[in-house]
Amino acid sequence: MNTKIRGILIGRMQPVHNGHIQVIKKTLEEVDEIIIGIGSAQLSHELKNPFTAGERVMMVTQALAENNIAPNRFYVIPMEDINFNAIWTAHVKMMTPPFSKVYSGNPLVKQLFSEDGYEIRTPHLYDRLHLSGTEIRKRMLNDEDWEELVPKSTVRIIEEINGVERLKNLCKKEISDL
Ligand code: NAD
Repeated sequence: MNTKIRGILIGRMQPVHNGHIQVIKKTLEEVDEIIIGIGSAQLSHELKNPFTAGERVMMVTQALAENNIAPNRFYVIPMEDINFNAIWTAHVKMMTPPFSKVYSGNPLVKQLFSEDGYEIRTPHLYDRLHLSGTEIRKRMLNDEDWEELVPKSTVRIIEEINGVERLKNLCKKEISDL
């Protein structure tokens, strides 16, 4: 029997950046297939979570195509948060193909999956100072160069959906009646 080794990486990816893509490429050297969970799928149109799950699925899928990663080597699956951390891994398992390895740098994700008996791998962090969603969203708001930190296809998607304008609008405070 030809059993495939699958790993999972879950991230909010607000937005997808070059660090995520590096980790996915590195992980694919160790597993046959990778499951990419789009975390907090229910959140969008917030300063910390500006993009919808669908937009983030598009970002990941196109960035992997841009990096010549064959479509039969990955699954991109949106995952809503649930209120109960103790049963979150069961929720994730219900939504995904079977997997044996968990790739994450997030302490809570690592804790929950390790308590559930999974093998955990902590990926190497690439230029974490700049390759982070927080830094990219900050640069978008300040008209600084954010494009260098994300794949070209992600730049095109963010332009297509007017993502920077959306973020700037989310930042505006309502002017109350005087
Ligand atoms: P993230 O997008 O910040 O990071 C995802 C992963 O990408 C990280 O674990 C890290 O391995 C990698 N990464 C990020 N930047 C990198 C860089 N510069 N170089 C290399 N690798 C890098 O997302 P996150 O916050 O870790 O996402 C976890 C998700 O799981 C969230 O959506 C959270 O809500 C969800 N979650 C939900 C529950 C629940 O619903 N009860 C519980 C735990 C976690």
